[in-house]
Amino acid sequence: RVVYVNGDFVREKEAKVSVFDRGFLFGDGVYEVCSVLDGKLIDKDAHLARLGRSLESLKMNCPASLEDITSIQRELIAKNGIVEGTIYLQVTRGVADRDFNFPNSVTPSLVIFTQKKNLLNDPIAGKGISVITLPDIRWRRRDIKTVMLLPASLAKQEALERGAGDAWLVEDGYVTEGSANNAYIVTMGGVIVTRQLTHSILHGITRKAVLKLAEQDGYEVEERAFTPGEACEAAEAFITSASSFVTPVVKINDRVLCNGIPGPVTSKLRRLYIEMARAEAE
Ligand code: PLP
Repeated sequence: RVVYVNGDFVREKEAKVSVFDRGFLFGDGVYEVCSVLDGKLIDKDAHLARLGRSLESLKMNCPASLEDITSIQRELIAKNGIVEGTIYLQVTRGVADRDFNFPNSVTPSLVIFTQKKNLLNDPIAGKGISVITLPDIRWRRRDIKTVMLLPASLAKQEALERGAGDAWLVEDGYVTEGSANNAYIVTMGGVIVTRQLTHSILHGITRKAVLKLAEQDGYEVEERAFTPGEACEAAEAFITSASSFVTPVVKINDRVLCNGIPGPVTSKLRRLYIEMARAEAE
């Protein structure tokens, strides 16, 4: 596999970043993950716009223009022959002698790599996943997509060790989101509920697209917080993210939803999202 590091396309074994990179020492960096279908990028402009907001929130500069980033992504997709998969992009503040305050003049590091994945016919999407609820111990600016992912990693690991597929994180009695995805329920009355956009959650690019499709298809959408208790009484539940699209949740803690199979609303939204994403990929 060829990866991109600070201006060069190199074989992954030869790709290097400094031990003094602030991404490595402080988690001082931001990232984006875009899906690739049919060799094309899904929702690239929205991902780059969010990258811009994340960088601005951390007072970081972008080492390349957004157009250049898209060209690099396309070149990497071609070089690695990615038809279906993801492309990961990371900007860290750069290399400087270790100190907590920001260095005066530093060039940000840019790393981009691809991962081949089965996204369309992911067997997990056909069966659905189970989730467990865990306390949300992350920082209070989850709207910034930083590489500081240890709390999310611990949650996912604990979920897997306990036989579940993911964790739904809970703060002050309400679900915030999944470890790396936004969380939704469908009430018995057919209303789609997902948490409103604040600093408490990442503003998912897939979330925005799916809510638009849901409204266009006549579903009622409520953007508000819900409790694990309400989720356990729901008709359906699902998650969204760039790499999982719309994935059914068929069990929450010990409560089986929808007889343990993906529900009709979730399945329809997954189909609508994939159709739209493929049609608009570029
Ligand atoms: N929430 C968190 C914490 C995430 O890490 C992600 C994606 O990585 C999402 C939500 C979903 O966002 P998107 O749809 O933009 O991939």
